[in-house]
Amino acid sequence: MTAQRKLRLATIWLGGCAGCHMSLLDLDERLLELCAAVDLVYGPLVDAKEYPAGVDIALVEGAVANVDNLELLFKVRERSRVLVSLGDCAVTGNVTALRNSGKLRELFGTVYHEPPGEAPVGPAAIKQVPALLPKVLPVHHVVDVDAFIPGCPPDPERIWTAVAALLRGQPVALAEQQRTFG
Ligand code: SF4
Repeated sequence: MTAQRKLRLATIWLGGCAGCHMSLLDLDERLLELCAAVDLVYGPLVDAKEYPAGVDIALVEGAVANVDNLELLFKVRERSRVLVSLGDCAVTGNVTALRNSGKLRELFGTVYHEPPGEAPVGPAAIKQVPALLPKVLPVHHVVDVDAFIPGCPPDPERIWTAVAALLRGQPVALAEQQRTFG
């Protein structure tokens, strides 16, 4: 009898605070069940530098805020069978998109040039950070998304309901889920 292939799981951290990843870790003992069913092939929890090919499930935290996010997200979509928006920043823009109401130049001034702090300024500093997009975008405004797990962060029960369904090869059906994201 041949052993069943483990699914290849990736977690992605775009423009978010890592709170969704922390909620994923709050699966606690169910992490053992998850680890038995998947190989974690990419994400902040593993040391993979390049997004691999042949990913079965990609959990994407965060909104699309800069050119690095954009480049990675295209790669994730191309190389993943099921792409899931994990958390409100990925689903709607949420906290990350708060800067959409202001002008980028003013934002830079407030964040980098006003005290407190000693952030580097000038052309050299600008080269060190990826260019911001004019507007922060939810993930499904950039690529096709197969499932949404809302919440800020989504609670572990909700994450587990969704991930367990995906592991069984079933669609994600969360009770309070609405597919009306603009
Ligand atoms: Fe952080 Fe909430 Fe955004 Fe998740 S949805 S990345 S917890 S701000």
